[in-house]
Amino acid sequence: MLNFNFYNPTNILFGKDQLRKLDSVVPKDARVLITYGGGSVKRFGTLDRVKEELAKSAREIFEFGGIEPNPQFATLMKAVEVVREKKVDFLLAVGGGSVMDGTKFIAVASNTREFIGKEEKILAFGFKGVPTTREENLPLGTVVTLPATGSEMNNGAVISNGEDKLTVFTPFNFPVFSILDPELTYTLPATQVANGIVDTFIHTVEQYITYPVDARFQDRTAEGILQTLIEIGKKTLDNPTDYDARANLVWCATMALNGLIGAGVPQDWATHMIGHEITGLYGIDHAKTLAVIQPANWKVRREQKREKLVQYAQRVWNIRDGSEDQKIDAAIMRTEEFFHSLGIKTRLSDHNLEERDIEAIVSSLTKHGMTKLSERGDVTPEVVTEILKAAL
Ligand code: NAP
Ligand code: FE
Repeated sequence: MLNFNFYNPTNILFGKDQLRKLDSVVPKDARVLITYGGGSVKRFGTLDRVKEELAKSAREIFEFGGIEPNPQFATLMKAVEVVREKKVDFLLAVGGGSVMDGTKFIAVASNTREFIGKEEKILAFGFKGVPTTREENLPLGTVVTLPATGSEMNNGAVISNGEDKLTVFTPFNFPVFSILDPELTYTLPATQVANGIVDTFIHTVEQYITYPVDARFQDRTAEGILQTLIEIGKKTLDNPTDYDARANLVWCATMALNGLIGAGVPQDWATHMIGHEITGLYGIDHAKTLAVIQPANWKVRREQKREKLVQYAQRVWNIRDGSEDQKIDAAIMRTEEFFHSLGIKTRLSDHNLEERDIEAIVSSLTKHGMTKLSERGDVTPEVVTEILKAAL
């Protein structure tokens, strides 16, 4: 096992009606900015419930709506102005990954001295640590309405500036608390539930199907998440109000990306990085890009991943017969079939992308300095081209 630090301070409040605890976890005298997206939380009543709970103590409440999927820098900077003008000292994100990530950006952009007056500078810190301090980084909490990204229990955020997608990390951007009530996700359209299942699946394999380091707990926990998703994926899609199925999805999404299964193991993330470029360029949903890239990535990098792919075939899909290569082929096929069963496509051509689009995707990655991806740093622009060709 590799050396690691595991630090995760987020207080999780999980289950039915946990929203009632909001008053006890937000500071009583806070000046709170509630952030949300395009309006689903208004339509389905979650915003009103949040405001009702916050009103139980003498807080000042402000609102900022309109954070779009793949949250844009320009939108978030408007929220930063509200934070400064109203002297907001606590952020409450109510929504999915885009709202949570956007709020994490607001948390670092508002008060970090280095950025005041030169906000564009923060964009230069994509993929690197942002120079903020514990005092400058605003505290935030989340009320999760979409299980997928794990943003509710990690310190990462992905924001967009036009076509560019940037990852922003600070050690202080873990939410103070996250409320995970599976019932708040019942109103999700089926395509978003399917996206959430696939995003969670890919977060898990990005940390599991890497070179082996005898990290048995991490491997078996990752396998547990994958098997749970396979068991409940279709069920929660077809029966959105089946509480137990949905609760299992919500907890898997959080556990897949809160640092636990990634501690002490090599991590890949090439699929995510290639996917981010495709979303930035063509606006295809995050999870849908991952479902296209991951199977092709395994086909091209089968030798580098052989041992773990065989383990994945045997332990996750229970494939016992045949040679190693036959097991790997069968596991990749079963993975694609699983995504198809959720209505998620696995080819670039399913999204109307062709061979001539490959160059744009590869140049965009190169522009963002991502020329040595994966746990081995061996996914060069040439390998990315091969992966994209295999995904056509
Ligand atoms: P999302 O972009 O937050 O939301 C997608 C859509 O779902 C929105 O249109 C939203 O509508 C709707 N929605 C959310 N909750 C709903 C509900 N309960 N009922 C009905 N509709 C609802 O989706 P996401 O997949 O959670 O987030 C994707 C983003 O996260 C991408 O930018 C991706 O790059 C990033 N990401 C971050 C991490 C991380 O660790 N931080 C990891 C992976 C991906 P409204 O806008 O109207 O609310
Ligand atoms: Fe993701």
